[in-house]
Amino acid sequence: MSFVFDPAPAVSVPVVGSAARFPVRRVYCVGRNYEEHAKEMGFTGREPPFFFLKPADAVVPVDAGTNARIAYPSLTKNLHHEIELVVAIGTGGRDIKAADAFKHIYGYAVGLDMTRRDLQNDMKKQGRPWCIGKAFEQSAPIGPITPAAQAGDIEKAEIWLQVNGADRQRSQVSKLIWNIAETIEHLSAAWELQPGDLIMTGTPEGVAAVVPGDTLEGGVAGLETIKVTIS
Ligand code: MN
Repeated sequence: MSFVFDPAPAVSVPVVGSAARFPVRRVYCVGRNYEEHAKEMGFTGREPPFFFLKPADAVVPVDAGTNARIAYPSLTKNLHHEIELVVAIGTGGRDIKAADAFKHIYGYAVGLDMTRRDLQNDMKKQGRPWCIGKAFEQSAPIGPITPAAQAGDIEKAEIWLQVNGADRQRSQVSKLIWNIAETIEHLSAAWELQPGDLIMTGTPEGVAAVVPGDTLEGGVAGLETIKVTIS
């Protein structure tokens, strides 16, 4: 087969303990999935889970022990960090029941759902799509994927983010409103999941702005940490 120009290279993320990489197909994101974060965004109560997407090429793969650089994006004056547990799908399926969800998981990683909050809020007010606030270039730095069997008890893990060495976000994965299995059940009712899909499961409270020169370091206990500097 020939193409009228070279196709974009496949996006992939490193895998802990393997030379082979995880090819990324889609990046699904869950909105407002920790109660204290929902509150800080002006919402209360358990609402049905809702989803948005980032394009695969928004992923910035971050190797273990490295400090990745991302550019401060255009148009915004309020770039926010959101530290998140990322679930990597290894086996696809539709209408996956929560009880079967873990069979579909390849592994876990730490990710940042970088957000142009001012633009997202403008779109929310107007009832318009969030794309411009969420789905821009380099908006999804993702650390190495740890295979599920080596990830420990991820559902009880601590999740944290520091900016320039000071705590910004600190919580537990157990505080997810919709847990990992329930999220996969809901997501796979709406879309057929495929190998290579990543799910950013939501962020705990403490989201705030970063500026050029800031270094973000975050983690989920049992997984490789992620380190990113804004330039
Ligand atoms: Mn998020």
